[in-house]
Amino acid sequence: MSRSAHPAGPRHADVLPEGHYSAPPADLNRLDEKVWSRTVARDADGVVTVGGIPVTTLAEEFGTPAYFLDEADFRARCRAWAEAFGEDADVFYAGKAFLSRAVVRWLKEEGLNLDVCSGGELTTALQAGMPAERIAFHGNNKSTHEIERAVEAGVGRIVLDSFQEIVRVAHVAQSLGKRQKVQIRVTVGVEAHTHEFIATAHEDQKFGLALAGGQAAEAVRRALRLDGLELIGIHSHIGSQIFDTSGFEVAAHRVVGLLKQVRDEHGVELPEIDLGGGLGIAYTSDDDPREPHEIAKALRDIVTRECEAAGLRTPRISVEPGRAIVGPTAFTLYEVGTVKPLAGLRTYVSVDGGMSDNIRTALYDAEYSVALVSRTSDAEPMLSRVVGKHCESGDIVVKDAFLPSDVAPGDLIAVPATGAYCRSMASNYNHVLRPPVVAVRDGEARVIVRRETEEDLLRLDVG
Ligand SMILES: *Cc1c(COP(=O)(O)O)cnc(C)c1O
Repeated sequence: MSRSAHPAGPRHADVLPEGHYSAPPADLNRLDEKVWSRTVARDADGVVTVGGIPVTTLAEEFGTPAYFLDEADFRARCRAWAEAFGEDADVFYAGKAFLSRAVVRWLKEEGLNLDVCSGGELTTALQAGMPAERIAFHGNNKSTHEIERAVEAGVGRIVLDSFQEIVRVAHVAQSLGKRQKVQIRVTVGVEAHTHEFIATAHEDQKFGLALAGGQAAEAVRRALRLDGLELIGIHSHIGSQIFDTSGFEVAAHRVVGLLKQVRDEHGVELPEIDLGGGLGIAYTSDDDPREPHEIAKALRDIVTRECEAAGLRTPRISVEPGRAIVGPTAFTLYEVGTVKPLAGLRTYVSVDGGMSDNIRTALYDAEYSVALVSRTSDAEPMLSRVVGKHCESGDIVVKDAFLPSDVAPGDLIAVPATGAYCRSMASNYNHVLRPPVVAVRDGEARVIVRRETEEDLLRLDVG
C-alpha cells in the first residue's frame, strides 16, 4: 500500500491536504480491472461500456443515478466459488449484500445456496423459486412468525443465535410435526477486518453464543436434548472485508475445540462447520483480494489440520460470501451537477445521488474509486471529493479520489464495486428516490429492480 499525504505527480493545487489517498494514477482514463466488473471497457470514442453498452446509452434509457449489474460477472463469480469449494462443501450467498428475484434465479442456476436473515428476504427467495432446502435462515432476533414460515417452508437450516431461540425453534418444529436442521452460531473471540484480526477471550457483540465461559457448549447440550431439532453443526462469522485468512485459523481452531468437547461429552461428531462470510474485494487499486480457489484451499487446509489434530473426522465446510460475489459486479452511474473547487483543499463534485444510494462511506468510512466514464480527458488530475445531494455534510460517496480537472456538470461519473450493501442499505432520506438496478448482459440491459417513484413514496404516506 502506498498511501501518502503528499503524493507526487501533477496536482491542481500547490499544497495537497492531509488525507487518505494514493498518488494520482498515471493515466486517469485507464480502468483498473481489479475494481471494475469483468465486461467493463472503454470504446473507441472513450465512452465506458458494460456488457457492450455505452454508459451514455444506459443513462439515456434508465436515467441516473442507477446501479448497473454485470450479470456475466455475477454468474462467473458464483461458478468460481462453487467450483473452488467443490462437491464436499457448500457456498451460501449472503442475500443481505443484495437480493432480488433475478439474483435468486441466477444463484439457483449457478448452483449456489442462499442465506436470508428476515421474513422479507425469505419471501423473495421462495418467490423466485429457490428450493427451501438450499436456504439458511440467520438473525439474532427472528420473530416467532418468521420461524414458523421458515420451518413450514422447509428451509435447509436455521442458525440458532440464543438460548430463547433454541426453545422457540424446537417448539415451532414440534407443533408442525417436523424436525428442523439447525446450526448454533458461536462467537469465538476473533474480529477480523482487512489485514488484521483481533483475538480475545470474550466478545462484546449481539450475535452468537460465546465459546468462552461455556455458553456455546451449553447451547449444544440443550439443542441435542430437543426432539424438534436436528443439530447439524457449528457456525462462526468473524468479520468483513477480510483479505487474510489467519483470523479463520484461530476461529477454526476454537470451533474445532468445541466439536471435540461435544464428541467427548455426548459421543456425537457434528457433521458440519460454517465459517461465515466476510471475504474482501477491491474497492480501490490498493486492495488485493485473494481468488476463491486460494481461499477454499486455505480454509480446507485449516479445518483438516485442526480436525486431524483433534482426532475428529473433517466436517463438511460451508462459507457465506456476500460482498465477494456481488460487490465487484456493479457500479453506480451518476451525473455531475455542480463542481466546487476549494482553494488549497480539494474540489467537491456533487452528483445526483449520495448517502441514500451508498451509505457505506458515511457509515464505515469506506473507500471507493471513481472515474469519468462519458468521455476521456487529458486534463491534469484533480483531488476530488464526490458528494451527494442530501442535507447532511457527511453525505460523501468517495472521500478522496482523483478526477480530471475539466470534469463539468453533465459529465457521467461512475463508482465501481457498489454491488454489495449499497442498494440493499439504500434509504429514502430527504425523500430521494431509490435508484434502479439494471442487469446488463451481452448487449442487453433490463431493469431488475425499478426506480422508486414519488407515487411509491406517497403510497406509504396514508395522509
Ligand atoms: C454479513 C454476513 C455474511 C456475509 O458477509 P460478506 O462480508 O458480505 O461476505 C455471511 N454470514 C453472516 C452470518 C453474516 O452476518
